[in-house]
Amino acid sequence: MTTPTELRPLLDRTLSELRSEMAELGLESWRADQIYSWLYKKGVLDFEGMTDIGRPTREALTAIYRINALSPKEEKTALDRSATKCLFALPDEREIEGVFLRLPNKETICFSTQVGCAMGCGFCVTALMGRLRNLEAGEIVGQILYLSRKFVEREQGFNLVAMGMGEPLDNYDNLLKAIRIMKEVRGLNIGPRRITISTSGIVPMIDRLATEGIPLGLAVSLNATTNEQRSEIMPINRKYPIEELLEAAGRYARATNRRVTLEYVMMRGVNDSESDARRLINLAGRLPSKINLIPFNPSPYHSFSPPSPAETERFQDQLLAADKTVTIRRRRGGD
Ligand code: SF4
Repeated sequence: MTTPTELRPLLDRTLSELRSEMAELGLESWRADQIYSWLYKKGVLDFEGMTDIGRPTREALTAIYRINALSPKEEKTALDRSATKCLFALPDEREIEGVFLRLPNKETICFSTQVGCAMGCGFCVTALMGRLRNLEAGEIVGQILYLSRKFVEREQGFNLVAMGMGEPLDNYDNLLKAIRIMKEVRGLNIGPRRITISTSGIVPMIDRLATEGIPLGLAVSLNATTNEQRSEIMPINRKYPIEELLEAAGRYARATNRRVTLEYVMMRGVNDSESDARRLINLAGRLPSKINLIPFNPSPYHSFSPPSPAETERFQDQLLAADKTVTIRRRRGGD
């Protein structure tokens, strides 16, 4: 008898894989399209509910596949409703977080790509775990399927950003597979322009992403304006220093015809001086880019603190005066 873990995880299948498998099983390949529509368009997460598939076929599918959807063990919405955090327990008891953000005029899902992270950024709580494992494609899709079905209200669609736990480009194959599943028009149909990958800066993987022919948004977590400063808070910089990183980001921008977002976590007394702003203007000028300032989110594990709102705005003003496109990311819900 097949145990549940031996059943094939359905959310890990691209549509073309599922069509081939249907044919191998002696079923019509368009059954895959029906299944995709039930899962991703109608949110039906059991074969029993897929009522336009005949009973014998549904029983055959139940014996081969499991619908590896995720549901959260904990859900927390900010008092002002600007964000809902979901803690998902995985089959091996590991936990990951996905967040639904309600921003003015847009909704965004922030998803995880790994359990923990190997990058060791000095300002990040996830870094303290180290990398425990990569998420499977279906575990990435599962977060988005749950969060989108539960929370999306706007008809105009929502955005996705790989900015939860993990370095997305350190789990490249599963990330790309998940994106192929999510952009399938017969499924969730999420256009690549709505998806942003945020990276600490693995240069060869940025170049590889540029060759995929999928115009995803790219955000580079820059956070410092000198190599000395950046290597101290982001060990990846010792391998791929700022110059190499921004050259790769520039190649990516040209290949996809999209501006790259430079994320800049602001830490008081570390990277928020006038000289930092001047250097940031210079660095941002090397590629088509926009800058997103993120005041550090205080944590009991770190000694950093954020600049005050007035200091953050002064820093922003300096960048604006140099004609840079700059936004400040506000904390959601104050918790
Ligand atoms: S890459 Fe992202 S998740 Fe990983 S340690 Fe750095 S900030 Fe944290």
